[in-house]
Amino acid sequence: MIIFLHVIIMTRISILDKDRCQPKKCDYLCIHYCPGVRMEEDTIVIDEDTKKPLISEELCEGCGICTNRCPFDAITIINLPEAAGEPIHRFGQNQFELFGLPNLEAGTVLGLLGPNGIGKSTIMNILSGTLIPNFGDFENKPENWDAVIEYYKGSSLQKYFQDLSEGNIKTILKPQMVDKLPKVVKGKVKDLLGNVNERDKLDYVTKELQLENVLDRNMENLSGGELQRVAIAATVLREGDFYYFDEPTSWLDVSQRLNAVKVIRSLAEEGKSVLVIEHDLATLDALSDNIHILYGQPGGYGVVSGRKGVRIGINAYINGFLAEENVRIRRNPIEFTIRPPTPEDEGDALASYSDLSKEYDGFSLTADEGEIFYDEIVTAFGSNGIGKTTFAKMLAGVEEPTTGEVDEEVTIAYKPQYIVSNFEGTVSDFLYMNAPSFGSKIFESEIMTPLTLDEMLDKPVKGLSGGELQRLAIAATLSKDAEIYLFDEPTAFLDVEQRLIAARVIRKMVESRNAASLIVDHDIVFIDYISDRAMVFNGTPGLNGHASKPTDLRNAMNEFLGNLNITFRRDKETKRPRVNKLDSYKDREQKEKGEYYYLSD
Ligand code: ADP
Ligand code: SF4
Ligand code: SF4
Repeated sequence: MIIFLHVIIMTRISILDKDRCQPKKCDYLCIHYCPGVRMEEDTIVIDEDTKKPLISEELCEGCGICTNRCPFDAITIINLPEAAGEPIHRFGQNQFELFGLPNLEAGTVLGLLGPNGIGKSTIMNILSGTLIPNFGDFENKPENWDAVIEYYKGSSLQKYFQDLSEGNIKTILKPQMVDKLPKVVKGKVKDLLGNVNERDKLDYVTKELQLENVLDRNMENLSGGELQRVAIAATVLREGDFYYFDEPTSWLDVSQRLNAVKVIRSLAEEGKSVLVIEHDLATLDALSDNIHILYGQPGGYGVVSGRKGVRIGINAYINGFLAEENVRIRRNPIEFTIRPPTPEDEGDALASYSDLSKEYDGFSLTADEGEIFYDEIVTAFGSNGIGKTTFAKMLAGVEEPTTGEVDEEVTIAYKPQYIVSNFEGTVSDFLYMNAPSFGSKIFESEIMTPLTLDEMLDKPVKGLSGGELQRLAIAATLSKDAEIYLFDEPTAFLDVEQRLIAARVIRKMVESRNAASLIVDHDIVFIDYISDRAMVFNGTPGLNGHASKPTDLRNAMNEFLGNLNITFRRDKETKRPRVNKLDSYKDREQKEKGEYYYLSD
């Protein structure tokens, strides 16, 4: 007799956000209303240790009543897409689940593209050997790597995990939050880099990452951008097999980003495996040979897509549809509009100024006469320390120009590049004290909801991640009543989706307040998406700077990229900007035409 075993394929998971769940305040509404519990089944029980609910995914019917009843939005019931495949790791009952792993290949750079909270760090922990995956069986913690090696039999990961389990693989990591480094690494940059110079490349990385001027400085005296470059240098200098870079470009300007690309790629050229998380699409494009897209529900589950060529992969991400997996990851494509140059005399001036200069001890800034219109977003390009904030302060009347004048001074709200997180208290407390419109309907619908601040209101500010802190700072800035909103690098630590949301939130608030925004950023794809016009700052950082008048994006880009000797083209399909390889056919052709930034094909 043949017995057919009926295999139940789990296609639904339930996730409980333990930070949000507050049984003391709700008296277990989820349990009271669950139809399973009413039928006397153990669909939801109380965890004796944590006193929080435990949802049985076998018994749950997926009716969604608990989700609707929970006053704190703590429960999510998710139907998994078929393409998810088999689970690789689950942290516990009603906790995050990961499906799939990237395919590493020696001699290549592999990019990971996906939102925050989708499992990238989990992947890193598995590949570096700190987390042995349990294939979804969270009740039996694996003791060794045997099952993992067996699972990946016949694929490149089999050998990888074999070597990893035998201690033959060394992983080197560049962490995301480099501003935390001075707390653990003390002393002079020169000594730190000298100590890790295992591959004898100190001169090379010092030159390529322009670290000559910081070698004699102490770690605690470095700016964020300097720390980022030191961290990249320290990673590249060490001897390993598998290198992992978590967001290597935050706080770097455009040319520094491309220098970082060169140095990181040099590892792959020497046969190393490199894995990179990066949300700046132009950098990711230039850096990676292939990418994996991560999709799912942040905090709920994450699926690693098949490996894709970098151009096709980024385009699929932009289009919001993964053809091989037959999965839609976003309702609409991200659209890049190629704006015709704005006529110079269009619009009413919100602020106008004559030629300006400002002299400080050791630094001087000059600016060409110009104006900023109502309702527009002007992006400012240029390296760090070149006078962009000084310029904005002159517009606001906070700093008096040494020569020249601002016709009408404007009020300004400012988000600095580096956000200090030593506030004692929760996000709510912070907003209460720092966001004048906190509590209003507009703040809730136009700022708080799109930036998803509601989910972190009860968290202590000190415990926020980089992306959460950035969203909080953007929200607080927009809550102020001002005429010009100045944002210095609002994209740092935000994922691609959050960058686009931030762009839309800023645009909407600026237009509804009849104001304008000046945005300093180095993510070319973001700049392209958000700019009405742009201005260029050049000079020598820390010594002198010059600001051109705000002009259309094409002219500003031509000036800026011409100074850097970099050209961008547009992708034929999605119209996104892509950097040209130095001395490639396109690069030479565009330079001959003086078109450093192609507006159309
Ligand atoms: P990413 O790196 O893409 O931002 P992570 O891998 O850090 O994502 O996290 C994915 C999800 O897994 C998050 O919801 C996170 O809270 C959860 N998670 C990470 N580590 C643990 C853990 N040790 N226990 C329970 N949940 C975890
Ligand atoms: Fe119960 Fe419905 Fe919630 Fe499942 S979704 S736990 S059946 S209330
Ligand atoms: Fe209460 Fe919601 Fe937690 Fe259930 S999940 S105990 S309803 S807070």
